Amino acid sequence: MLIVMHHKALDKQIKAVMDAVERMGLTAKPIPGSERTAIGVLGNKGYVDDTNIRGLPGIKEIIHVSKPYKLVSRDFHPRATIIKVGRHEIGEGKRPIVIAGPCAVESEEQILKTAAAVKNSGADMLRGGAFKPRTGPHTFQGLKEQGLKLLALAKKETGLPIVTEVMSTENVELVGEYADILQVGARNMQNFDLLTELGRIHKPILLKRGMSATVEEFLAAAEYIYAGGNHQIVLCERGIRTFETATRNSLDLSVIPLIKELTHLPVIVDPSHATGRRSLVPPMAKAALVVGANGIMVEVHPEPDKALSDGPQSLTIPGFEKLMDEVRKLDTFLGY
Ligand code: PEP
Ligand code: MN
Repeated sequence: MLIVMHHKALDKQIKAVMDAVERMGLTAKPIPGSERTAIGVLGNKGYVDDTNIRGLPGIKEIIHVSKPYKLVSRDFHPRATIIKVGRHEIGEGKRPIVIAGPCAVESEEQILKTAAAVKNSGADMLRGGAFKPRTGPHTFQGLKEQGLKLLALAKKETGLPIVTEVMSTENVELVGEYADILQVGARNMQNFDLLTELGRIHKPILLKRGMSATVEEFLAAAEYIYAGGNHQIVLCERGIRTFETATRNSLDLSVIPLIKELTHLPVIVDPSHATGRRSLVPPMAKAALVVGANGIMVEVHPEPDKALSDGPQSLTIPGFEKLMDEVRKLDTFLGY
């Protein structure tokens, strides 16, 4: 439940409402805003009977929130959250970030070469999977801890912050030692034990949308991390499953402006996994920026034909360089 106070409500009226909420055994969370003060009510399992609150002075409106997410909603937190990673900032009003790199870390040569190239072209962060969630068990599963060490080497050489996936609760600590942003892959979006564990750490999380997840389920997954105490969450739209098989997934771009209405968290787009085809990545990356994404994440490989995973959707180094020239023009056009 959300209690919206009148613009001119007195501090003592706000306090009286909060006390009344606490007397009901619930938690009252003040949400100051530039246009209104609201009080979020937390701790209820179902509908809250507001009989004892409704008549208190200073209240403008009581909104019963039936959504499975509250803390990440705009209702509870009107001001946009900005995630800081080193000197980079991700979120509303900031220049969209570009995360680039291979699907998987394959070798020292591959990751160092890619890192140097994407840095040179203007990428802000390096991606690369060390723990890979593959559909079948007979394919390359990632270099695991050795992959993390190679990412650390690439970071040392280029200064690029690292984005890499964590697949299980037992590896949260290990991956957290190397990653600047820990990625939760689409297949793990509803791994609630993992989300709960990530709520306990103090590092940014990149939460990818499950391939069959509704927006509500996506935001409810973010709520797990947020409610646990970790408020540094970046959402990532990476395409969903539809009847269409011509592309790997269907990029659901309309959720970008929608998610920005519903939540204060930043949202980025991964056009690589969304389309599965190299030729479609640049147009959809640019489209993502136009609809207001706070960044893009793109797969790049020095030799996509030899990639151990996701070669067909990986940009070549010159392909990424060209995309970045266009991204820079678009950033200027968008006013960044
Ligand atoms: C990835 O980004 O490496 C990845 C596996 O993507 P997704 O979880 O979106 O399939
Ligand atoms: Mn991939």
